[in-house]
Amino acid sequence: MNANTSHLMRAYARQPVSFARGRGARLWDNQGQEYLDAIAGVAVTSLGHAHPEIASVIAEQAGMLLHTSNVFRIDWQERLGERLCRLTGMQKSFFCNSGAEANETALKLARLHGHRHQVAEPKILVMENGFHGRTIATLSASGNRSKQQGFEPLLPGFLRVPYNDIGAVREAAEQSPDIVAVLVEPVQGEGGIHVASIDYLRELRRLCDEQGWLLMLDEIQAGMGRTGAWFGHQHAGITPDVMTLAKALGNGFPIGACLARGAAADLFAPGQHGSTFGGNPLACRVACTVLDIMARDKLPERAAVSGARLLTGLQKALADHPHVTAIRGQGLMAGIELNRQCKELVGRALTEQRLLITVTRDTVIRLLPPLICDEMQIDDIVLRVARLLSSGAMTGVSGAAVAEREPKT
Ligand SMILES: *Cc1c(COP(=O)(O)O)cnc(C)c1O
Repeated sequence: MNANTSHLMRAYARQPVSFARGRGARLWDNQGQEYLDAIAGVAVTSLGHAHPEIASVIAEQAGMLLHTSNVFRIDWQERLGERLCRLTGMQKSFFCNSGAEANETALKLARLHGHRHQVAEPKILVMENGFHGRTIATLSASGNRSKQQGFEPLLPGFLRVPYNDIGAVREAAEQSPDIVAVLVEPVQGEGGIHVASIDYLRELRRLCDEQGWLLMLDEIQAGMGRTGAWFGHQHAGITPDVMTLAKALGNGFPIGACLARGAAADLFAPGQHGSTFGGNPLACRVACTVLDIMARDKLPERAAVSGARLLTGLQKALADHPHVTAIRGQGLMAGIELNRQCKELVGRALTEQRLLITVTRDTVIRLLPPLICDEMQIDDIVLRVARLLSSGAMTGVSGAAVAEREPKT
């Protein structure tokens, strides 16, 4: 096979490496070189690669039934809906195939909610730095000008305030009677790993109740155990009206979900929303299996422990680094902020450290290891990141001098 990228749209800046197989937190490229995965396909493969139970459930269901239609009842969809509602305290579910679609569902619910209360032009409060997807509606909801550029006109109906600033939300409430909902991430992932404070989330809940707004939480990246709780908002002990899931829900098999309770749960009437593939037997059975494994293996609890180990490890290893300005995170969502652009570190981490990382917002190294990582793998991630950041280009020391200093493995 002699593949190349010449027939692919240039939507991505791709690294020149392609992986042939994986196992747990490890990956092997086409040349058989081994790598350590500290991003899990961007918070997707939380159970690790090639999980044997996921693999066998996919094979078994593929041999029975892949797809029928939402014209009919789908047992696995009904089971998954019940499981997720029990886990989250929500009442109703809608299934789709991605995070953006899950958020589209939430945005449509918010507008229905507004119209039901005679708000002709309902507005949804969103956050600076927020990320909700790449469709026109979710891009309009996102707070990243550079990603919106070129796609104007954006969708109207959004009001933007700074993240983690309850005063700004109160001010918006006073000035705009048309607000009907708030859409917010409990931890901003693409935005550079910013954790919402517990007080902020509780105050948001209180304000939404007071104003009759829907509190809609985008748990697509922070949910499914990643932050050390099943869902990010649980650290604050609140329950949203609407929440969206995707990413790790299928461990790499595409699936998204929008869950709702109370007034938000019964807004859709038949024909008002839909998805051809959404909620098919294969995707829903895989997601049920993901939930089984996460509960049985206590992965949210493990993420809390490993996440603390990762953060303290990074803080210790990078304490005196001249370019590191902040290390923050929750559970296995960690960000290392530098005082300089560092996009080139993604490629250097691959070639020099055989480590998969991402850089977001130009200056933040983001780590999202699979939740199944053991202590040794967590320590290994810390070691490789520390070595990456201690090499010549990062500290001003020549590369050769650094190579001699580094311990041999
Ligand atoms: C990844 C992500 C999305 C978009 O999900 P897609 O499956 O890529 O459409 C939305 N919100 C958050 C918080 C995300 O991290």
